[in-house]
Amino acid sequence: MMEQNQDQTNEVEQEENCPVEENTQDKDNTKKPSKVQRIRSAIFELLVYVAIIVVCVMVVPRYVIQRTIVDGTSMEATLQDQDNLLVDKLSYRFSDPKRFDVIVFYPYGRENEDYYIKRVIGLPGETIQIVGDTIYIDGKVLKESYGKDPMTESGIASEPLKLGKDEYFVLGDNREVSEDSRYEEVGPVSRDKIEGRAVLRIYPLNKFGTLRSQGNKAKAAERSSDADTDDAKVVAIDAGHQSRGNSSTEPVGPGSSVRKAKVAGGATGVSSHVPEYKINLSVAKKLRKELESRGYKVVMIRTKNNVNISNKQRAQIANKSGADIYVRIHADSSASSSVRGASALYPSTKNRYVGKLSAKSKKLSQYMLNSYCKKTGIRSRGLSLRDDLTGTNWSKIPVTLIEMGFLSNPTEDRYMQKKSTQNKMAKGMADGIDKYFNR
Ligand SMILES: [Zn+2]
Repeated sequence: MMEQNQDQTNEVEQEENCPVEENTQDKDNTKKPSKVQRIRSAIFELLVYVAIIVVCVMVVPRYVIQRTIVDGTSMEATLQDQDNLLVDKLSYRFSDPKRFDVIVFYPYGRENEDYYIKRVIGLPGETIQIVGDTIYIDGKVLKESYGKDPMTESGIASEPLKLGKDEYFVLGDNREVSEDSRYEEVGPVSRDKIEGRAVLRIYPLNKFGTLRSQGNKAKAAERSSDADTDDAKVVAIDAGHQSRGNSSTEPVGPGSSVRKAKVAGGATGVSSHVPEYKINLSVAKKLRKELESRGYKVVMIRTKNNVNISNKQRAQIANKSGADIYVRIHADSSASSSVRGASALYPSTKNRYVGKLSAKSKKLSQYMLNSYCKKTGIRSRGLSLRDDLTGTNWSKIPVTLIEMGFLSNPTEDRYMQKKSTQNKMAKGMADGIDKYFNR
């Protein structure tokens, strides 16, 4: 127990020696910090700490910046599974998300803890459409190269999709696996579901850095590789047909009143039972690989069987892709099982849609058929003039349709299904394309 009438210096000592005092009712407390004051100041200090902790633990992650872990491969090659990101939650309070920002959002609302990380492609009020691998914004091609592979699913954006006043259209960079705005379940993302912008990768450490600059680096690399391959010829390849035909019709050429089915069913191997759409795609993929190894750029109209792209659309994709030539791959069929051999189909000079492309198309057809038959040993049936093919008539670039052989001939069917044969088929076609371009 201490006396109260001591001087200040002693008082301080006393405080330190004896923090617990009993005389809280003391009247003398105007001259020196009383117990009440000391408690007040301690409480104040405590409150400051609590405030700092609250800001750090609650406010910063909630409103300013938060760590997020990538779950899954849908943003490859930009982000990998389990990358640790910092998400900036503040900027979007002052400005709107921009095109190509990588955002974190809650597709099913904030009450559901599932969040997605995707890239902004379409902005509020814009109309977006995806045809083949090309994205259109308000009818114009969007120049971007974030996609890891060509897109084969356009989902709800296969038809023009108008975004609402506060809606964003997002895509994962890994477009073959990403579940994003193309799909009904996610759809366009409203502003209130967007949590923030992924800005910084903090782990793994060897990839530490801002996402924006990494995106730019990737784009710069792509631009320079574009520059390197500026002379590269571009080949559009269409693997004919698809897993299900489409019997609704379309004009056989621009302005034509004659209409044909959008996609015919195609033949089936009489011995192998392999449908034409499968062997067409299998050879098309081998041709892509072969051409790319020879320095060409390749645009695949389809890379999956389960698509719905009409013959007119296929030609339009080829036209818009910037390709130099359009190669259509098919296999033939006849009522007679003895018929065999390969042919190449091209438009005549009298063709009212593509007559002026006839000469170049003939040259392409001739070179490809010759080299193909030479490499595979499949007999040549020669060239064939055809002005009734929708996919050819809508083309704006030299075009050929290769009938690789007869699926209705058991021997030829079995021969064409072999992997070794298909490698020869691809090499033969590529040889012909080399010749066409004087390589
Ligand atoms: Zn066919």
